Amino acid sequence: MRAYNFNAGPSALPLEVLQIAQQELVNFQGTGMSVMELSHRSKEYDAVHEKAKTLLKQLLNISDEYEVLFLQGGASLQFTMIPMNLLSKNTVANYVLTGSWSEKALAEAKKIGHVHVSASSKENQYKHIPSINDLEISDNAAYLHVTSNNTIYGTQWSEYPQLNNVELIADMSSDILSHEINVEQFSMIYAGAQKNLGPSGVTVVILKKELLTNSTNELPTMLNYRTHADKNSLYNTPPTFAIYTLSLVLEWLANSGGVKGIERVNNEKASLLYSCIDYSNGFYKPHAKMDSRSKMNVTFTLPSEELTKKFLVEAKEKGFIGLSGHRSVGGCRASIYNAVPLEACETLAYFMNAFYKRNQL
Ligand code: PMP
Repeated sequence: MRAYNFNAGPSALPLEVLQIAQQELVNFQGTGMSVMELSHRSKEYDAVHEKAKTLLKQLLNISDEYEVLFLQGGASLQFTMIPMNLLSKNTVANYVLTGSWSEKALAEAKKIGHVHVSASSKENQYKHIPSINDLEISDNAAYLHVTSNNTIYGTQWSEYPQLNNVELIADMSSDILSHEINVEQFSMIYAGAQKNLGPSGVTVVILKKELLTNSTNELPTMLNYRTHADKNSLYNTPPTFAIYTLSLVLEWLANSGGVKGIERVNNEKASLLYSCIDYSNGFYKPHAKMDSRSKMNVTFTLPSEELTKKFLVEAKEKGFIGLSGHRSVGGCRASIYNAVPLEACETLAYFMNAFYKRNQL
């Protein structure tokens, strides 16, 4: 039996993907070996690599003006690589603070060069996304960095600023491919794979080719975007099994109606849980303000620590995994990424309703 997996990441993968990986595990397409055992320079692996890249480009409608890179080091290494490659002595890195991950991204940029906080909702416990009209962009801005979905606080951007002459960069680790976006609005998008894309170990970077000219040869080779772009992410050994699984996840998504199709299901899943919260007469309190609610991470608290504990214990008994909130904020969190089935959310909503009725004060 499969668990109802609401983990924040690594998180649920589509069952079909796991089954294909299982079938192919010891003999990948007649090679007599696993994908893990193939040379990364073989034609069989090359086909896997290209499939992942092509499917990602198709699903997000990415033009040839962008490079698609498969890197390692997680989204966290991008916090460092972005300012290393894109910030110069005379320019300023702008950040919008919407949670712990944007704070971490800012902290890394500070080690490299000049930074500016364009907006922050920290004073309000990161309950909302600042309005795009209130962003204060510095002079000589190299870029504006946003975190599209805040995994810990459960908030999500619903629209992005249109900027003139400032590159928009988004950390989409926890909502990439969950809803339609216009890639052209961004100069760079990056995401660790372990939520919507596949297993941990690979980080997807989508980067406007013209930005590559900023990367100087003085940069350490592995931290230079040009190294990876010039070698099609094969400068050194890539995480082959993670990229293979990514290709299967992308294929699954393409066969499930693409981004548009999954967006419809994601809306339905989020609406089931938020309705349950909203109709509980304040028993479940959402962390996020209504207009900033995330459709990927639903965060809420119960009336007391005791009830929270009871809720989590009973939930676990029923097979719901991963519902405790992040250790920094407490409460509860249901992460409902692309691969979490609608049925899991229906069952959770049913349980939440019943728990509320049994325990209301
Ligand atoms: N950004 C966001 C929005 C995240 O949710 C996470 C991880 N949960 C990270 C960055 C860090 O990713 P990684 O662990 O791949 O470095």
